[in-house]
Amino acid sequence: MKALVYDGPGQKSWEDVPNPVIMQPTDVIVKIDTTTICGTDLHILKGDVPTVTPGRILGHEGVGTIVELGSAVTSLKVGDQVIISCISACGHCDFCKQGVFSHCLGAEGASGIGWILGHLIDGTQAEYVRVPYAETSVYLLPKGVTPRQGAMLSDILPTGHEIGVKYGQVKAGDVVAVIGAGPVGLAAIATAGLYGPSRVISIDLDANRIEQAKSFGATDAVNSGDEDWKEQVLALTDGLGVDVAIEAVGIPLTFTMCTEIVRPAGHVANVGVHGHPVELALQDLWISNVTISMGLVNTNTLGILLKLVAQRKIAADSFISHSFKLEDILEAYDVFGRAAETKALKVVLNA
Ligand code: NAD
Ligand code: ZN
Repeated sequence: MKALVYDGPGQKSWEDVPNPVIMQPTDVIVKIDTTTICGTDLHILKGDVPTVTPGRILGHEGVGTIVELGSAVTSLKVGDQVIISCISACGHCDFCKQGVFSHCLGAEGASGIGWILGHLIDGTQAEYVRVPYAETSVYLLPKGVTPRQGAMLSDILPTGHEIGVKYGQVKAGDVVAVIGAGPVGLAAIATAGLYGPSRVISIDLDANRIEQAKSFGATDAVNSGDEDWKEQVLALTDGLGVDVAIEAVGIPLTFTMCTEIVRPAGHVANVGVHGHPVELALQDLWISNVTISMGLVNTNTLGILLKLVAQRKIAADSFISHSFKLEDILEAYDVFGRAAETKALKVVLNA
């Protein structure tokens, strides 16, 4: 089969590789129908994720059709079209029982890390993929939800919802600020709307993206390149700050910005993947009763979000800016990698 192989920092190729085979009784083999590229794949290609070794097939998102079952798989059948979660969960360990699938203790990949596809084992940017712990790691695609829509549920929608909105404890009437209007920030904006906030403020340096955020439910847009960005945000509150500030960029500056706009007793929910330490102004913050949360997505709300996508309460198609054929994945990487120029959000690849 063909697959997108990571060949070390800065190097990738679309090449012939052996087809995946069942290795554990709980595995299935899935023929990929639709997959997509994540910002994390770009981090990997820069060499920022050294746990990904040369030869690895990338990709942790996608929808496909089951073509082969391991001997222990009874609740799925050949021909089922499924959403592949970016997190593989054994379903039995202490963390899985708590719904903290991101820290699954199963031995596949590395015990304690739920994100293994396209990271520690071969991923979904291929014609076929082996999915471990299949019964607890894939979701049947219901009628009325397209594979493209389904692919938005592998990672971005659960991430924005779980680590942004739920950890941030967004509730009715809240003023919510989301810093970063990439696919993940937009997913946080779209799912914050499910809880009835009074305002959702999209903050980014990219004027096009904060304008786009309005179609995902943002009520206001603030360009953080403006000198008075903070005053603009505070003016959209009662002057005391936002109830919830969600960080969806992954750099020290934007995390600190969140701590500067949150009101006393509010919440800062960090979603961004950080590569550098962040200084926390505890000397100012300790007295403000704020809560700070962070984490790796669990995809434990994937099923709920899937229902909302099916009911058209979440417009999953809106995240997709470009479509390519799977074999044109190198071109898709190029377009996705130049998002500011190409206005790319999610690029989908169809088999
Ligand atoms: P992205 O790169 O597409 O979007 C980031 C946005 O931040 C861009 O629109 C960019 O213009 C904006 N930005 C950059 N610097 C800024 C600044 N100084 N002020 C305001 N905005 C700024 O990324 P994405 O795919 O949307 O992902 C967002 C973050 O979420 C990344 O760090 C990603 O790695 C992370 N992520 C986390 C999890 C998790 O489980 N916690 C899962 C998936 C992705
Ligand atoms: Zn587990």
